[in-house]
Amino acid sequence: KEKVFSGVQPSGIPTIGNYIGAMKGFIDLQDSYDAIYSIVNQHAITVPQDPKILKQMTRQLAALYLAIGIDTKKAILFVQSDVPAHAQMAWIIQCMTGLGELERMTQFKDKARKQEAVNAGLLAYPTLMVGDIVLYDANFVPVGDDQKQHLELTRNFVDRFNSRYNDDLLVKPEPLIPEEGGRIMSLQDPTSKMSKSDTNTKSFVSMLDTPKQITKKIKSAVTDSIGEVNYDKENQPAVANLLQIYASFSGKSIDSIVSDYSGQGYGNFKGDLADLVVSTLEPIQERYESLLTSSDLDDILQDGAKRASAIAESTLSRVEKTIGLTY
Ligand code: ATP
Ligand code: MG
Repeated sequence: KEKVFSGVQPSGIPTIGNYIGAMKGFIDLQDSYDAIYSIVNQHAITVPQDPKILKQMTRQLAALYLAIGIDTKKAILFVQSDVPAHAQMAWIIQCMTGLGELERMTQFKDKARKQEAVNAGLLAYPTLMVGDIVLYDANFVPVGDDQKQHLELTRNFVDRFNSRYNDDLLVKPEPLIPEEGGRIMSLQDPTSKMSKSDTNTKSFVSMLDTPKQITKKIKSAVTDSIGEVNYDKENQPAVANLLQIYASFSGKSIDSIVSDYSGQGYGNFKGDLADLVVSTLEPIQERYESLLTSSDLDDILQDGAKRASAIAESTLSRVEKTIGLTY
């Protein structure tokens, strides 16, 4: 079976952007692939985190993964810091990656701009991600559009590594990015990506928002003065973004949604979209609540860590032997 790896940071509660762009796809993939999903808490500390909140968000993300339908009989679910091979592999990759390559990454530039002080980890972030992927010999990596550049870096690294040492030592992964919804934009600014770590909570709908919060956020999402529901990314980017969310949550095509609302303003469209998001998230939130407080969660993560470690350690030792970290 081919392998799939992906991760989400416990840097906030996942948004509908994370769900549409990445997490929703994880569920189907676990049926046809060996799927490995991680709560990448070591990535999260590349920006400051409150220890108590980080711990809490780690549990919340684990429960949410299960609530959306990750089945640990099919997929491995684990917390990154439980598997030391990730940090070990990242160090090796850092020693084989150019500073210039990392400085060019747009995520680094975006996130560095928002920080008062930038730490070395934020720059090194992509090397930890390269490690996450190659440790599991992943063939496919389901991610949002913003991770395309990091996947390209991963592919270049694998080419460089394999040609230097041994042609089939590491597997070269392909990104799986949804054609529509790979980049859901902020509800307050259609030029910036929706992000769970955004300090403006009106910019996103989180997977755990209440019906009231969801409705309020969607109804107050920015639009434009054109006043007609059209799919025009250039001239009506905010409405186009809401249409992508609508299409993803309803399974309808964007064309049919546009024709359903033709000749109407934004009021009905936004109201229906809010109802759709509320009714989709409701059953997920119910499952989440019961999972969060169950002791099963710890057992599931411990078991996931064991299964992930076995794979990761074998790859790491293969790499260490190859590069001479042995005697
Ligand atoms: P942070 O702001 O802390 O980076 P984030 O919202 O970007 O949080 P990540 O944990 O970095 O979330 O990413 C998890 C997954 O969600 C990745 O596959 C990423 O590409 C995807 N993703 C993130 N934001 C969006 C978005 N706005 N639209 C679609 N996919 C997204
Ligand atoms: Mg991100």
